[in-house]
Amino acid sequence: MAEIIDGKKISQQIKDELKDKVEALKANGKTGALAVIQVGEDPASSVYVRNKKNACAYIGIESLAYELPEETSEEALLKLIGELNEKEQVKGILVQLPLPNHICEDKIIQAISLKKDVDGFHPQSVGAMTIGEPGFLSCTPAGVIQLLKRSNVEISGKHCVVIGRSNIVGKPMALLMLRENATVTVTHSRTQNLKEICRQADILIVAMGKPRFIGAEYVKEGAVVIDVGIHRDENNKLCGDVKYEEVQQVASAITPVPGGVGPMTIAMLMSNCVQSIEEE
Ligand code: NAD
Repeated sequence: MAEIIDGKKISQQIKDELKDKVEALKANGKTGALAVIQVGEDPASSVYVRNKKNACAYIGIESLAYELPEETSEEALLKLIGELNEKEQVKGILVQLPLPNHICEDKIIQAISLKKDVDGFHPQSVGAMTIGEPGFLSCTPAGVIQLLKRSNVEISGKHCVVIGRSNIVGKPMALLMLRENATVTVTHSRTQNLKEICRQADILIVAMGKPRFIGAEYVKEGAVVIDVGIHRDENNKLCGDVKYEEVQQVASAITPVPGGVGPMTIAMLMSNCVQSIEEE
């Protein structure tokens, strides 16, 4: 039976460490705020935004909420970002995705000052991560690395298979595992023999966005399985991309959904905000 990698507990540890750091920074006169922008009222986005504001309050940094109507123009959003880029107290700018269709996400992401790109989505932040230069790391993949490290999972030299190649999870995930000296295979929707490839993984990271897709037949005995997926099933229950009950029987360690990768994403966002305050 697999050991459960407890993302709730590990993210709490990280937030407590950050809370102490924020207090020390305040004592040295260093403070800052995270600006959180939401366009429209997508209910899932509203939950994420609320959780981010709560996390800021917990670690002791200010959050500034910008709740804009669905019909906000791209121009108006770019203008707001321009103003926030200039505001000294604002140390991080987060635009909750997805944006309405009439707004180009890439344009918005690229408008955020590199120094305030706490989501790590700016192409230059991604480039810096690729070549190991300092910069903000994409939060979900950085959270997975912390989960593995803080659970004493050896990464160096291990074969890591990542399922998914999106810009926000799969690709940065593969790059960060490479940085940790894993041997990395990236798989995607056109991959042939997915099962055979997954069965070679010492660490299997699943970010495919397909509810309960990965069963025990994809997992080598004793592998570590990280489930990034998050969905509501037909009973409105949260589930991941992995068939948790059966994979738990063959893996040596596994993240649950909820309570695995999800809470780590916010903890790493807070870590990026604190880094930004430190670096001012
Ligand atoms: P996405 O839809 O952008 O990408 C999915 C990827 O999976 C694609 O690259 C695709 O090629 C691959 N894929 C799809 N079907 C496949 C198949 N049959 N075989 C192999 N590969 C396949 O999704 P995303 O934004 O990367 O997110 C992935 C999942 O992670 C989603 O469920 C999302 O909700 C979740 N997510 C969770 C967090 C978190 O904080 N826990 C953060 C971001 C995303």
